[in-house]
Amino acid sequence: MPLTNSLDLTLKTLPIGVTLVAVSKTRSVNEILELYNAGQRNFGENKVQELLQKQEVLPKDIQWHLIGHLQKNKVKYIVPFIYMIHSVDSLDLLKVIQKEAEKNNRTISILLEIKIAVEDTKYGLSFEDASFILSEVKSGKFPNIKIKGFMGMASFSDNKEQIKNEFSSLSSFYLQHKEEHNLDTLSMGMSNDYPIAIECGSNMVRIGTKLFGARNYTNI
Ligand SMILES: *Cc1c(COP(=O)(O)O)cnc(C)c1O
Repeated sequence: MPLTNSLDLTLKTLPIGVTLVAVSKTRSVNEILELYNAGQRNFGENKVQELLQKQEVLPKDIQWHLIGHLQKNKVKYIVPFIYMIHSVDSLDLLKVIQKEAEKNNRTISILLEIKIAVEDTKYGLSFEDASFILSEVKSGKFPNIKIKGFMGMASFSDNKEQIKNEFSSLSSFYLQHKEEHNLDTLSMGMSNDYPIAIECGSNMVRIGTKLFGARNYTNI
């Protein structure tokens, strides 16, 4: 199926108010351009090196989302252009983003990544640590950071109830803090679980496989 068709089909499944981040990791510049020419502007990558290579050659009005784990020493490369960082999982990382954002005279939109899955291989903050970071940012120590909300990944599982419980826990946490901290983004849902995520209140989905087909990691 042509990519523009799968984009249309995917967009049709999203309610108004839910933003599609097309996850383009491992995909070629030409594939990204095909979706860009069909009107898609939000793209997500999980590796800094790959993001930089693509950003350099692709149209400058693409809104790039960093969705994978971010090492502190790589922050400086993405801060000049990044649209949103979904994977902020420590106060130390936030401090580095603040420093680089100030140098670049930018305000960086970020999401705190929260660990909601049972697997312990996944990165992410506890609700408690996230609350602490929210209060630190509110106190004015991070003038070049805007926390927009949270990102979470559910367990890799066929158990819909479990996935639903995990997304719901993050959704409640989001609703608890939304007003006080002026949040507007809840990034939950990938190809296999995004309808559940939307049911639970997600307003940003990160979809790769459903748009582009299965990934082939050998031809990056
Ligand atoms: C790869 C990835 C996605 C997209 O996964 P698909 O199953 O291909 O839709 C979403 N979020 C993150 C953080 C990812 O690394």
